[in-house]
Amino acid sequence: DLVPVRRALLSVSDKTGLVEFGRFLAAQGAEILSTGGTARALREAGVPVKDVSEHTGFPEILDGRVKTLVPQVHGGLLGRRDLPEHRAQMRAHGIAPIDLVAVNLYPFEATVARGAGFEDCIENIDIGGPAMIRSAAKNHAHVAVLTEPAQFDAVRAEIEARGGTTLALRRRLAAAAYARTAAYDAAIAAWFARQEGEAFPPRLVLAGALRQTLRYGENPHQRAAFYTDGTDRPGIATAVQVQGKELSYNNLNDTDAAFECVAEFDRPAIVIVKHANPCGVAVADDLAAAWDLALRCDPVSAFGGIVAANRPLDAAAAERIAAIFTEVVVAPDADEAARAVFAGRKNLRLLLTGGLPDPAAPGIAVRSVAGGFLAQSRDAGRVTEADLKVVTKRAPTAAEMADLLFAFRVCKHVKSNAIVYARGGATVGIGAGQMSRVDSARIAAWKAEEAAKAAGLAEPLTRGSVVASDAFFPFADGLLAAAAAGATAVIQPGGSIRDAEVIEAADKAGLAMVFTGMRHFRH
Ligand code: 5GP
Repeated sequence: DLVPVRRALLSVSDKTGLVEFGRFLAAQGAEILSTGGTARALREAGVPVKDVSEHTGFPEILDGRVKTLVPQVHGGLLGRRDLPEHRAQMRAHGIAPIDLVAVNLYPFEATVARGAGFEDCIENIDIGGPAMIRSAAKNHAHVAVLTEPAQFDAVRAEIEARGGTTLALRRRLAAAAYARTAAYDAAIAAWFARQEGEAFPPRLVLAGALRQTLRYGENPHQRAAFYTDGTDRPGIATAVQVQGKELSYNNLNDTDAAFECVAEFDRPAIVIVKHANPCGVAVADDLAAAWDLALRCDPVSAFGGIVAANRPLDAAAAERIAAIFTEVVVAPDADEAARAVFAGRKNLRLLLTGGLPDPAAPGIAVRSVAGGFLAQSRDAGRVTEADLKVVTKRAPTAAEMADLLFAFRVCKHVKSNAIVYARGGATVGIGAGQMSRVDSARIAAWKAEEAAKAAGLAEPLTRGSVVASDAFFPFADGLLAAAAAGATAVIQPGGSIRDAEVIEAADKAGLAMVFTGMRHFRH
């Protein structure tokens, strides 16, 4: 199954390692065929090369759109050397076998990433390259196909050692080749869908470029990797790690949750996340003040947490954050003084993203289920005061209204069932991920009591707070639990068949309540 390389076709956009590989093949006695720019690069380096157009007797035409899409090339790649009829037909039509192809494609992904216009992106869709890759990979029994410069060394080593390519190597290369053309077409399909305004359902859900292989997944026995989707949406995928240990799967997941949440707020904001749930969120006049308020919500859980800020970090904020053990800090930027503070905390991972994600931006959220994927448009919903309907006799005060909107925005980022108590632009009790809403309300109130005890306060901060619920209260009990904890105003989607009962209970308790008409389940 050893195939000596008598004829090779090289046609590469990324010319890395090309000349060395070409020179090696030529020294082995191989005839090298090549397209315009690739042939020029080889010739300039003194490597003997024959233009594909000379080999086929057909010129490169249509601005290079048709260079290698001819029977002499594809017959040379696809013809079976083990079938006498194939060999006879090739001879009859003057088609010479090609034993090795090295092709890397027009840089479509890089063209999109640099923000090129529509026409430019279209011109960077390679047609002949993927065709050759797929032909050669199908005929891997006789042809070796290289699709990236990193493969040159391994192929060269095998030819040097054995005098040709082995079937085992050609199969490995073929598998990589189809992965490459699949990823290439997925990138084109995803880009095209975006041009058409995020058609839903998306034609192709997963168009990812490997960003990083992770040490392990959610648990040490799981394998994991991080992919970018080519949208360049600011956030975890655009983050530059300034310092600290390697990021883990859980770090990335938690940091994303924290950063998506903090991007919701217009005022300077801090979000502290543990296990993908916020355990403290606050807005204030500056980040340092927001940190103090966010930490107060649940200082026990905040230990070893992930911290996100929606403004460039300054020294005052950095000093406060660095005072407790923190796994990751993520922000759009950090000034010199802030970086210097974090530099003293060697293990702390500092990520700077260069911008904030737009919470209202469209996008696709994907999760796997047995045997498939679930896809949905991301939760870009944002409730404003104009969307609210006051349903109780008492309307919220201005201060209550500000906290209600804040609490509901936090709720969107808390796993369901989510109950969030807030006061003065800060969460004061968060109940997450319970199977019953009333349990979430009780847990949030209980946590607030614990935080008050730890801080030496006379009473929990839920006294005089507002409360938000990510979905409607199915019964009055959850609402009454919130009232018992001291909440004076309530925000919830409404829409339960028992809304009337719940509104009556709110009126009896003297609560102000608003309906959003929008639910924020998050599982
Ligand atoms: P060169 O720099 O040699 O002029 O062009 C190399 C690039 O052309 C490679 O990326 C290769 O995939 C691509 N290519 C080769 N043949 C064809 C073809 O027939 N049509 C198109 N559109 N691209 C081709």
